[in-house]
Amino acid sequence: MTTLPTRLANTIYDDIWLPEETIKIRQQVRTFADEVLRPIAHELNTTPEDVSKFPWELTKKMGEAGLFAIPFEKKYGGAGLKYPTLATMVMLEEIAYVSSGVAAALIDVQLILFGNTLKHAQESVKEDLFPKLISGEIIGSFATSEPSASTDLSVRTLQTIATKVENGYKINGHKRWITNSPIAHHMFVLCKMNDAMSMLLVDMSSKGARVGEPDKKMGNHCQLTADVYFDDVFVPDSNLVGAEDKGLKAALTSLTLGRVGIGACGVGMAQAAFDFAANYMKEREIFGKALSQFQYWQFKWAGYASELENARNLYIKAALIVDKKRPNIQSMCAMAKLIGSTLPGDVVRDAIQVCGGYGFVKELAADGRQFPLESIYRDCKIGEIYEGANEVQRMVIARQIFGR
Ligand SMILES: Cc1cc2nc3c(=O)[nH]c(=O)nc-3n(C[C@H](O)[C@H](O)[C@H](O)COP(=O)(O)OP(=O)(O)OC[C@H]3O[C@@H](n4cnc5c(N)ncnc54)[C@H](O)[C@@H]3O)c2cc1C
Repeated sequence: MTTLPTRLANTIYDDIWLPEETIKIRQQVRTFADEVLRPIAHELNTTPEDVSKFPWELTKKMGEAGLFAIPFEKKYGGAGLKYPTLATMVMLEEIAYVSSGVAAALIDVQLILFGNTLKHAQESVKEDLFPKLISGEIIGSFATSEPSASTDLSVRTLQTIATKVENGYKINGHKRWITNSPIAHHMFVLCKMNDAMSMLLVDMSSKGARVGEPDKKMGNHCQLTADVYFDDVFVPDSNLVGAEDKGLKAALTSLTLGRVGIGACGVGMAQAAFDFAANYMKEREIFGKALSQFQYWQFKWAGYASELENARNLYIKAALIVDKKRPNIQSMCAMAKLIGSTLPGDVVRDAIQVCGGYGFVKELAADGRQFPLESIYRDCKIGEIYEGANEVQRMVIARQIFGR
């Protein structure tokens, strides 16, 4: 038995749809994930939330390896790829295969929610922040949720208020669950202004900005979330994103891409659980034959192989649709999230079952061996909830079928 599973996607999945540039990115990120992330992943995935344990060194290495350049234009120091969304999603799958928390904090939030919103910021802000984001020098954060407003983001529910003042805006309010907030340098904040919503970029060292202690969560421990308080925080005019009344549009554009990202992360986690258990089944004998010889498990794994194929194809197709700027991306992105985030829970539950005690344990006291299924089981649940709960994804798809 091994804790470094052989990747079965290499033998049963064909990346036939991917352009050459994306196949190279998959290989580059996979090598990084295996060589740099894997040695520290177990600790990151199992250590409870702690600001002092944030992986700054890993962040620096991701920047140096060029991973943070993947979604962005050459003009700002990015990789200038033809299919940047596709490459970003493939990167998410590869990182989530090893650590869902790192994928969520350092790619989904840092590059998609923060980085994509930055694309819509004013030119001077982009010129200042893109190089720092790409090198791994700064951490970004994206705040829409509040204690009593999250799924329902509307002028009626939002209670973080921006007021126009000379040369800028003042923000007062309280956000909740904000990923990266305990260590973020900059944060996009969705505010209510008059009868509309505005997106403002806050320098988190500003007077009046305060972040609470990190929440203790079920999983994704290295994805630090916390409450954020704004008490008369001044934001200059240059930090308004788009028009004053277009904040919700800016938020939803990034969240739509984020949904594809959650689907891709789900595929990474499902594949990791699938591989670990399949390799285990080949070696573990029960009643005189390998577990892999029992048709019960063979049929289950044949089903999961097919569902993995579907989920991967869906996120790849959704990402291509975004890159090719096709209309009606919403429902395809919603499908990628719905299917991709549901699958890992099913696979890992059965993976733990077939591995028995070796599925349930995270570290075996007798010899110190480390096992991955326990953290995947905890980490994957949030995919069904955040960036639009899966009920919301069903609403988006239903609207495409039946209209509003
Ligand atoms: C680990 C983590 C990281 C997060 N990171 C961020 C972040 O970086 N930035 C940010 O702004 N927010 C973030 N969030 C917030 C996250 O997006 C919200 O938790 C999520 O949107 C759900 O909102 P809620 O928790 O307030 O639940 P609610 O909005 O109260 O929804 C509760 C439940 O209602 C159900 N529901 C919703 N709509 C419908 C419907 N139409 N029909 C039937 N049932 C429905 C769903 O099952 C949903 O889970 C994060 C949350 C967590 C836990």
